[in-house]
Amino acid sequence: GNAFKLTYSTMFNPPAELHARFDAALQHFKQHGMGKDHAQWVNDQALMEGERFEVRSPINQDWLIGRFVQGSTAQVDQAVQAARAAFPAWAATPWPDRVALLRRAARLIEERVYTISAAVAVEVGKNRMESIGEVQETADLIDWYCDQMEQHDGFDRLLADDPLPNFRSHNRTVLKPYGVWALVAPFNFPFALSGGPVGPALIAGNTVVYKVSPETSLSGWLLLECLRDAGIPPGVVNFVTGGDATGRALVQHPQVAGVTFTGSHAVGMEVLRASVMGRYPRPCITEMGGKNATIVTRHADIERAALGIVRSSFGLSGQKCSACSRVYVEQEVATPLRERLVALTTALAVGDPTVAENWMGPVISRSAYERYDRLVEHLKAVGTIDAGGATLTAGALARGFFVAPTVARAPLDDVAWVDEHFLPIVLVGEVASLDEALRRANATDYGLTAGFYGSTEETARFHREIEAGVTYANRPQGATTGAWPGYQPFGGWKGSGSTGKAIGSFYYLQQYMREQSQTVVE
Ligand code: GLU
Repeated sequence: GNAFKLTYSTMFNPPAELHARFDAALQHFKQHGMGKDHAQWVNDQALMEGERFEVRSPINQDWLIGRFVQGSTAQVDQAVQAARAAFPAWAATPWPDRVALLRRAARLIEERVYTISAAVAVEVGKNRMESIGEVQETADLIDWYCDQMEQHDGFDRLLADDPLPNFRSHNRTVLKPYGVWALVAPFNFPFALSGGPVGPALIAGNTVVYKVSPETSLSGWLLLECLRDAGIPPGVVNFVTGGDATGRALVQHPQVAGVTFTGSHAVGMEVLRASVMGRYPRPCITEMGGKNATIVTRHADIERAALGIVRSSFGLSGQKCSACSRVYVEQEVATPLRERLVALTTALAVGDPTVAENWMGPVISRSAYERYDRLVEHLKAVGTIDAGGATLTAGALARGFFVAPTVARAPLDDVAWVDEHFLPIVLVGEVASLDEALRRANATDYGLTAGFYGSTEETARFHREIEAGVTYANRPQGATTGAWPGYQPFGGWKGSGSTGKAIGSFYYLQQYMREQSQTVVE
């Protein structure tokens, strides 16, 4: 087991032991964990047949992470049927027993935190602290939803008797599961954005079929192992692998009762439209990206603002839904802020992120690498690159998808301020007032996170007027990123999310259940 429990504060103040354990796990993964054939998992059985695809590390394309099955429509159907068959018994299992099994899974995740995070780091190309954070966050999220279930006595409540004199009726309300829940997770947090929703779906009594982005299939498999080893019964949680076609077959399957999707806005909207095409409408929890702004006023602590912006713009190479990609700064302080941003950005260590000294790793794929090039060309044409602006190909970096973190300027009406890029590029624009900053920050279809640096009075106004689900003021650890369960509920508004109920909040778990009122006359 672990000598200490990883917590939110560990992430910012890691004990030396953490590095030794991570390094040992990393070496073990590279020698014994990579390059294997992996199965899909349906009804407690490995499903090996089918065409295979390779997953290679974005750090170095010579590193074969593993081979996975391109899940067919028939296999997806098989998984959904297994989940359907398992549903009645799982739904009838007393909720404290379901909670106990999920808590056991959370403990296994914690026991394996280094093994899993080493694999996640190599597969996604994220640094060790972010990888460890992602894995620990998953255990914390599962515990959080278990706590919620307990604090609400399984959402089974007695109501008042009807006040009629002759027919005395006893009333109660109970939340019940829907059935088979389908879940699709993205590459950037393949472990947390699988385990985060699988936990509440199962705690609520649904059975699950899930898939992660093909680029990070191994991370999805490592979660399955924890759930399986915790003793969750056959068919209750099923795992399929593959690309868009597999994902579509899953979320559009007619016998799926509910869907959780995290990914792009376009695909999320497609999932939502499909949710009314069957015989019943189905609940859909979609988390769909962001174009997150940070506002810096003339009253801001510039050093803090620059630190927070750099961490949020370039953490995980800008590939977080929560990443900061737009900065609106008041003219008076634009030059000092830009200077600090440029200095911090130029000093960032970019390279193999599994090495402790490196802070920023690669982008996920060749296509992201090419998108970076195109956006840089565009910004050179319409504006100015203040830092970065080049792909990195020296030595071993040429084997992966490395790019320089980039600070740029563009006219405030340029299209670069509108589209989500999912790249380590931040735009800095000058505004005349807080008024203008707020107006521009809100002039987007997205509404996930937002950052603010300024005075107390200004902060109050920011909170009143900003259209975003996750907001941070004067935070040096990250202007717009780094939410932790129990501290920062995480969910999008507007085009960033479909339900407005945040991950790791008091209101999230209930979405996986439907209400039944029960009235009995004596
Ligand atoms: N929870 C992460 C954060 O607060 C972001 C998750 C995401 O990008 O989907 O930074």
